[in-house]
Amino acid sequence: MSGSFEPAMGALVRAALERAGVEVVTGTEVTDLETGPDGRVRAACVNGDPVRGDVVALGLGVRARTGLATGAGLPVGERGGLVPDDRQRLTDGVWAAGDCCEVLDRTLGQHLYVPLGTHANKAGRVAGTNLGGGDDRFPGIVGTAITRAGDAEVARTGLTSRWARDAGFDVEEVRMDSTTASGYMPESDPVTVWVLGERGTGRLLGCQIVGGRGAGKRIDTAATAMLAGLTAEDVAMADLAYAPPFSPVWDPVQIACRKLAERL
Ligand SMILES: Cc1cc2nc3c(=O)[nH]c(=O)nc-3n(C[C@H](O)[C@H](O)[C@H](O)COP(=O)(O)OP(=O)(O)OC[C@H]3O[C@@H](n4cnc5c(N)ncnc54)[C@H](O)[C@@H]3O)c2cc1C
Repeated sequence: MSGSFEPAMGALVRAALERAGVEVVTGTEVTDLETGPDGRVRAACVNGDPVRGDVVALGLGVRARTGLATGAGLPVGERGGLVPDDRQRLTDGVWAAGDCCEVLDRTLGQHLYVPLGTHANKAGRVAGTNLGGGDDRFPGIVGTAITRAGDAEVARTGLTSRWARDAGFDVEEVRMDSTTASGYMPESDPVTVWVLGERGTGRLLGCQIVGGRGAGKRIDTAATAMLAGLTAEDVAMADLAYAPPFSPVWDPVQIACRKLAERL
């Protein structure tokens, strides 16, 4: 699944990269890498023009490496990964977990390919327990991830507005700006929170966060709420911690959810 970030939130990530001195060029193709006489790279060719640089980092996506399994006659899922059951069992005597597998997205009820260490670890534990004769289940994911771009913490969970509409959800979304701490505290940084909810049920379906120090891990509030099937109203009224160095009185995720609840 591509486009896992809302365009308006992506623009904030781009701004953070530009603040860090990165020239961001999108929607184009790198056709060649130029090397110098010493064999070291010196430019990437973009639209035929060389863009000078000392280091090239390729971020080309990831595919499940399933040759061992398919060679043994095991099937792969629609997104190219193995599809074990919730005990991580593929078939009699064969267990699988991690980047070679698709994983159940609990909101969509579909298997997706989301190769991340966070749930590879959990699924591996489940596989190991069951292999050892125990009985453990992996419940699936909601698609939670975090990273940093320049000075911005960037985090996401759940559906984007596009995925939700494509899947037939009737949704409403809100994006709002707040601060990571009470505005008068010196450590207060800007944060933008985007939330998505389902009309009718009021259920929270997605959240994305871009902001300064302390912004990103707030995604865990939204992820936990989604795992529990909570509504935007539930999150807005949740008893979350507050003191000025850590948060405004209403946590930024709660402010966004309160506005979302009003619209739902
Ligand atoms: C640069 C980078 C940064 C990342 N950062 C994050 C992050 O911040 N957060 C996050 O959640 N995820 C992150 N990930 C993803 C995360 O690392 C993977 O999802 C996770 O490691 C997958 O675990 P795994 O056990 O399936 O595979 P791996 O960790 O790749 O382990 C597979 C092991 O199997 C071995 N192996 C392969 N073939 C064979 C064979 N035929 N026989 C025996 N052994 C074999 C390999 O050598 C390897 O040791 C990152 C990945 C990369 C590459």
